[in-house]
Amino acid sequence: MAAPQPLAGWRLRQVVADTHQLSKVGGFLYVFGWAVIGWLGDVLDFAPVTALVVAAGFLVLAALRVAMRPPDTGNEDDARRWLLRYALVLPLASVLWAGVQAWVLLDPHFGEDTQMVSLIATIGYATVFANVYSTVRHLAAVGVCVLFVPMLVVLWSLPDARALAVAMSFYALYLAGAVVRSHAEYRRRLRLDEALREQRDLYEHLSRTDSLTGLANRRHFTACLAHAAERALRGGAGFTLLILDIDHFKRVNDRHGHAVGDACLQALADRLHRAFPPPACLLARLGGEEFGVLIEGTHADGRALAESLRNDLAQHPLDCGPGARLPVTVSIGVGRFEPARHGDADGLYRAVDLALYSAKDQGRNRVHALADESA
Ligand code: GH3
Ligand code: MG
Ligand code: MG
Repeated sequence: MAAPQPLAGWRLRQVVADTHQLSKVGGFLYVFGWAVIGWLGDVLDFAPVTALVVAAGFLVLAALRVAMRPPDTGNEDDARRWLLRYALVLPLASVLWAGVQAWVLLDPHFGEDTQMVSLIATIGYATVFANVYSTVRHLAAVGVCVLFVPMLVVLWSLPDARALAVAMSFYALYLAGAVVRSHAEYRRRLRLDEALREQRDLYEHLSRTDSLTGLANRRHFTACLAHAAERALRGGAGFTLLILDIDHFKRVNDRHGHAVGDACLQALADRLHRAFPPPACLLARLGGEEFGVLIEGTHADGRALAESLRNDLAQHPLDCGPGARLPVTVSIGVGRFEPARHGDADGLYRAVDLALYSAKDQGRNRVHALADESA
């Protein structure tokens, strides 16, 4: 059997959230149980102070469960510490109930009806513990033992209760199995959830990514551009857009083959990464040999950055595989979003695209910034 994995990451967060979610209102079941037992057994008549202390104890423990919210710091050590503290608090109500159960069985003030109801309640609580608190196996096992073992000891010590003691001992075996089974089922569900989550994340990543270069694809880039424009229109920070296109890329394919052309696109993506590091910059392959850069913030001098990239490429050939260091130039259109001038992201995109094509028209290997703007 594989050794259990230590809880970490998403699993730890999920176990913490599930443990609190499943158990936070369970403490009030003990309050209700004690109210019923107290009422059936007329406990206020012969032990009013103890009855009230027990009720207060159950109430405090129930409130504590609700109040002990899991930490939202995202820190794993905090989450582990919370789980440990909670695992110490959770069985306290069971300890108190075990005391109540022993009292009801041993004190002749309580009638047979009350004793029977208390036994049913104990069975119920232990069953809930075994089946519901399946997130942490030790927690479920401790809770069940605390509830059941004292009751079994008392029953076996009472000569008149042998049949009941035998029946309850068999039920204890069922509970032990239930603890193991429900925990295994919870772990299975957790693994399934995790696999689904990973698949979803992978699918989301793939749907945003260009498979050749690993940069964002056009769809994701367009969406981010639209969000950036909306933020800017609401008074947020501005942004700058670059669109760049490799000059005469068809010749690279024609002379060196498609595979070298692909390697060239990948090498250019690496250069872009160095020139426009994330997270302030979002890089995308918009299609073919055309790339986009979105630079967040109003301080970036887009024109200067574009010029330095163009210069770097013109001076340092791209490493496109063994024996293929290719001199490659790019033409770049660049512009800063001006809400009054461009209206929205599409308006800026069209303007920068035109700037790129005017750079091509005027001889390539050049940067064209939007007219009259300090891009
Ligand atoms: P210009 O300077 O006007 O941009 O000329 P160009 O040759 O770069 O542009 P054109 O649009 O004529 O050709 C683009 C070429 O890009 C044609 C196509 O074979 C190539 N291409 C597009 N996508 C890929 C790809 O994924 N891999 C490779 N190797 N080549 C690609
Ligand atoms: Mg081109
Ligand atoms: Mg092109």
